[in-house]
Amino acid sequence: MTVWDDLVGQARVQEQLAGAAKDADAQVTLQTSGGTAPDASKMTHAWLFTGPPGSGRSTAARAFAAALQCVSPDRALGGIPGCGFCDGCHTTLIGTHADVEIVRTDMLSIGVKETRDLVRRAQLSPAVGRWQVIVLEDADRLTEGAGNVLLKAVEEPAPRTVWLLCAPSLEDVLPTIRSRCRHLTLNTPSVAAVADVLVRRDGIDPEAAMTAARATQGHIGRARRLATDERARKRRAAVLRLPLRTDDIGACLKAAQELVDAAAEDAKQVAEDVDGKETEDLKAALGASTGGRMPRGTAGAMKELADRQKRRSTRTQRDSLDLALTDLTGFYRDVLALQLGSSVALANEDVRDSLDRIARDSTPERTLRRIESIIACREALDRNVAPLLAVEAMAVSLRTG
Ligand SMILES: [Zn+2]
Repeated sequence: MTVWDDLVGQARVQEQLAGAAKDADAQVTLQTSGGTAPDASKMTHAWLFTGPPGSGRSTAARAFAAALQCVSPDRALGGIPGCGFCDGCHTTLIGTHADVEIVRTDMLSIGVKETRDLVRRAQLSPAVGRWQVIVLEDADRLTEGAGNVLLKAVEEPAPRTVWLLCAPSLEDVLPTIRSRCRHLTLNTPSVAAVADVLVRRDGIDPEAAMTAARATQGHIGRARRLATDERARKRRAAVLRLPLRTDDIGACLKAAQELVDAAAEDAKQVAEDVDGKETEDLKAALGASTGGRMPRGTAGAMKELADRQKRRSTRTQRDSLDLALTDLTGFYRDVLALQLGSSVALANEDVRDSLDRIARDSTPERTLRRIESIIACREALDRNVAPLLAVEAMAVSLRTG
């Protein structure tokens, strides 16, 4: 099992990364033995991975990071770095390699201060590994100021530093940054490829794997969660019942309220899991007395943490709602396929009865308008419209009565 095994349906990208890892390895070997690096290298110091959510951007970046740190003796015999077993590969994949920093944010944006810290780190030479690798999983969330800080680091990188940026699309990254990165595009993997990896890697029953892969349309992480997490399955089922519960305005408003409440519940869950411990840890670090009294001058740090937690809560709620709206769009897309007699495989075959009923009771034009209203709702949420307001407007437009 190599570091590349988690990359599903991305043969072209894998080939390119493996080639780069091989050249990178030769470069370091030459440098450390006093030679000069070869000119024509498939390796470069800044990469940008784009692709739709769930296509495996961060998985690809992490596999590449592991391959760059691979110390397997097979490399010297012409093997591709990224054995998956050696210390370099293994510690990178589990997130403990000293020279691999994986930056993942649960915030809506990444600011200047955090980016400065990263840039400072990027200037260091690798401590134990062959490269200093920084994986920025949400490069689309850099504020403009943060982007400018990063730009300098990407322009003049330290000789053994590699930046791996991930974003949904090229447009999500500052033009000045993306022009300095080598760009790789990941495709949405096929339903069959996702189902296959769920069976092979996660030991999920083939039929359940297929249902989950179909329902999530090539999003590996979501498919895995759906196949393994009862709560995720219940949530999806509730969302897919919504189209049948919109007989009158009152019912629509009630359904909207439930969607928003469920998202708030998700945020509360995350807060319960994380916030309390975080706060206690910070209090202890700042030297709280046993009675919980805080020393003078620590109020600012406590306030900063509280703000951070509030931003994370907002983000969790938004992600949760967005997921529900994605499922709902998929439902009406299936309805449209049935109405048009299309032969494409349905994402939500498991709720075929509901799909048939809505398809029978409406027209393709109506279905398109419903899909548009869901898209409009997502856009409104992006613009920070109050969630309940946006979801209510959408739910009313789904009305069947
Ligand atoms: Zn290895």
